[in-house]
Amino acid sequence: MRQTIGMICAHQPRHLLRIVPLLALILGASALGAALPGGGVVAAGVAPRTVEVLPITPCSEINKRKIIITRTSIGIQGAVTTLNYRTNQWAISVLDPMYRLSSSYRPTGLVAITWRGVLSPKGGYLLKREAADALNAMFTQAKVSKISLKILSAYRSYSTQVATFAKWVAQAGLQQARKYSAIPGHSEHQLGTTVDLGSINGVAWSNPRFPTSATALWLEANAYRFGFVRSYPAGSANIALSCYGAEAWHWRYVGKSLAYEIVCSAQVPRIFLWARQNGGDRVIGPACDSLTPPEGYVLPSPSVTPPASDVPSESPADSPSESPSASPTEPVASPS
Ligand SMILES: [Zn+2]
Repeated sequence: MRQTIGMICAHQPRHLLRIVPLLALILGASALGAALPGGGVVAAGVAPRTVEVLPITPCSEINKRKIIITRTSIGIQGAVTTLNYRTNQWAISVLDPMYRLSSSYRPTGLVAITWRGVLSPKGGYLLKREAADALNAMFTQAKVSKISLKILSAYRSYSTQVATFAKWVAQAGLQQARKYSAIPGHSEHQLGTTVDLGSINGVAWSNPRFPTSATALWLEANAYRFGFVRSYPAGSANIALSCYGAEAWHWRYVGKSLAYEIVCSAQVPRIFLWARQNGGDRVIGPACDSLTPPEGYVLPSPSVTPPASDVPSESPADSPSESPSASPTEPVASPS
């Protein structure tokens, strides 16, 4: 089933058409922003670090930046290519309105998966094998709990995101589009590890009640056990730190250990990954006691954490190819 792709979050794929009209439209409505110094973001529950990590630029400052549009590209002023994504450390790559993937990046090891989470050549969605295997296991376990999950969107190429963003701009204007859709290159869906999930029989993802539906609550409680984390949690404080509105359907695969640590830290993934990407120590948060660590999990020692400069930035494992996604607040109209 390669269709459900029509309606999802900000990052929906669809009509690859009108890029040119889109550019024209955007050019006419452009946004001017201020340059930004890197402000500080302090998350609650952060323990003292032995490695000094510079604070990530606040979303409030990034979102004031100008969108630069040419005949062939769309980008955010001052955007920077994120680290690690071409390596086997792709799980810690920060993607937000500032950090992006290369437009030519296409993840390696993509496999087909059906909307029901079954790995099959007939599947209409693509994910990196690790994420696909984990998702399949999660779908199976969810079913045991009477939760029927379905995939709404998975890997999205850079060009797909261009079309998605263009659609949002045409529909709601540039400024609104920024809130609900990732600029091409900035979407986690381009990593090949991120999915939008909904319910087969339950509340639709676009329904305002979805976040409190049995499906969403099951994911909130269990997704980390399969290696998935929710990138855009609800609540104004979290939204201010993730740079996009709440998305109860958007889940990124980072592996079981990292997912456990992220949920345990009670930090939004963007903040946690920034620290990890820059060699910060593990954060012991308030939620640890109630979580189940992965089998064989060993608490990482701060002294073993490699400084940022030691993190491989160009190693094998992943090879180049494409990029983008995003996500913002509850879908207003009907994202797609
Ligand atoms: Zn998404």
